[in-house]
Amino acid sequence: MILMNDFKAEQPELREAMLTAAKRVIESGWYVLGNEVTAFEKQWASICGVGDGVGVGNGMDAIEIALRALDIGLGDEVITAPMTAFATVLAIMRAGATPVLADIDPDTALLDIASVRRCVSVKTKAVLLVHLYGQIRDMDPWLSLCDEGGIVLIEDCAQAHLAATRGRVAGAFGMAGAYSFYPTKNLGALGDAGMLVSQDRVLAGRARQIRNYGQSERYHHPQIGLNSRLDEMQAALLTERLAWLESFTFRRQAVAERYRAEITNPLIRQLAAPVEKSAHVYHLFVVKCDARDALQKHLEAHGVQSLIHYPVPMHSQAPCAGLRCDPEGLANSEAHAQTCLSLPCHPQLSEADVSKVIQAVNAFGGA
Ligand SMILES: *Cc1c(COP(=O)(O)O)cnc(C)c1O
Repeated sequence: MILMNDFKAEQPELREAMLTAAKRVIESGWYVLGNEVTAFEKQWASICGVGDGVGVGNGMDAIEIALRALDIGLGDEVITAPMTAFATVLAIMRAGATPVLADIDPDTALLDIASVRRCVSVKTKAVLLVHLYGQIRDMDPWLSLCDEGGIVLIEDCAQAHLAATRGRVAGAFGMAGAYSFYPTKNLGALGDAGMLVSQDRVLAGRARQIRNYGQSERYHHPQIGLNSRLDEMQAALLTERLAWLESFTFRRQAVAERYRAEITNPLIRQLAAPVEKSAHVYHLFVVKCDARDALQKHLEAHGVQSLIHYPVPMHSQAPCAGLRCDPEGLANSEAHAQTCLSLPCHPQLSEADVSKVIQAVNAFGGA
């Protein structure tokens, strides 16, 4: 079976480096918020082109902490997409704010700016832009929209490690960027981990307190916080894995280029190609097919695993019942949920694997 992820197939050199890093942490006798975390924070912030990285427990907490650090909570609205991981919306709710759902652009499955404009109200405090599947698009319209409306832009970068437009990396555009290092992300830990990145010193300082019980110095708690600290083991493992991220990303892009060129089945529709290579890091390679469920069964029978990102849009999730949405509806999100399918697109795929996926997709004859 060709899998969606295959960590066991990773290079032995990477495995050795991780074992050495784990030993280093175990022998250090220091396990939470220490030198490994600080070093990884500095490295990741620098890659993102921002001043600060704040290591936290996971990607969802990175969003919640960004909102809390900006005093966005009860009575405030945050506009985001219905086509995303549930964590995006849950983080807004956990911060005490109210998610508002705008529709997506059918060609990219990314948030549609015209729909977002229709959702803006006097209560709108932030737009939480999700760089879905690893795509980043032109950020200027988003910066203008937020500027004009006095709205804060926050980026959900959980799927977009190294994605860059005109030389600027995801997370560098908004007031804050939220990264997840969940194992299956493009840069993944061996457990949960996340980071908030920001070019705003004050925001980063508040986030540092919030992740650690709202503590300023030992036993002093000027604000209400959480316990969401990055640990030394994950930071050390992430540092080793970061050394491979660029080559892994190139491999994902090469696999995607073959899919784009060689998947020719007229029953399969592809999403819009990125305008520049760096603007899509292919966390997921997603196609659309009206007979999606039959396609998935067909692929399975041909030894190809696939997944659906995402089968249930946010507004159909029970905790989201009654949330305000685009007054013109969320038809694009609903259509996408019914037709989208993610094909294997990870760095360990061989050329033969890619050929096998392409052949299986092209052999699909419909429901
Ligand atoms: C994975 C993911 C998250 C949540 O990250 P966790 O580390 O699992 O909490 C948030 N948003 C998106 C778009 C994601 O893909």
